[in-house]
Amino acid sequence: MIIFGTRNRFKTVGTGQFYCPRCQAQRNYERKQAKRYFTLYFVPLIPMGDLGEFVECQTCHMTYKTDVLTMTPAPKPVSAVELLNSVKIRLLKGDPVEYVVRDLTAAGIERDVATSLVTSSIGDARKICKNCNLSYASDVTVCQECKQPLPEIGL
Ligand SMILES: [Zn+2]
Ligand SMILES: [Zn+2]
Repeated sequence: MIIFGTRNRFKTVGTGQFYCPRCQAQRNYERKQAKRYFTLYFVPLIPMGDLGEFVECQTCHMTYKTDVLTMTPAPKPVSAVELLNSVKIRLLKGDPVEYVVRDLTAAGIERDVATSLVTSSIGDARKICKNCNLSYASDVTVCQECKQPLPEIGL
């Protein structure tokens, strides 16, 4: 009895790094080419057709169409730590507390949360500009609006 059939064979045609949508991270991939072979006694003999190429993540082994290689990761939601850092940087750079809170609430953050973010990044001490009524972190020396020197705290 002659045993024949078909079998798919995969050949690696390329490797590299890509953004794996399943891992949500940069991963190594292998780009593979699938071909169908006519087999005789389970030995692939004659290529019967091209089944196309695909990309396989070497971490989760998920396979994708090759256009996954051109995909770029979706922007990550800002983490609480990043948010806190950016608030701190703005305030220490001399942005008024009121403006920072305004921008945070405009971005959809509750006013209470915005205020406590400010307090956790620069503490409770504030310098207040007497002209503009804006408040600043205690290290800031000049009012951003009127460019006047800020009075020392408690004066
Ligand atoms: Zn993966
Ligand atoms: Zn001022």
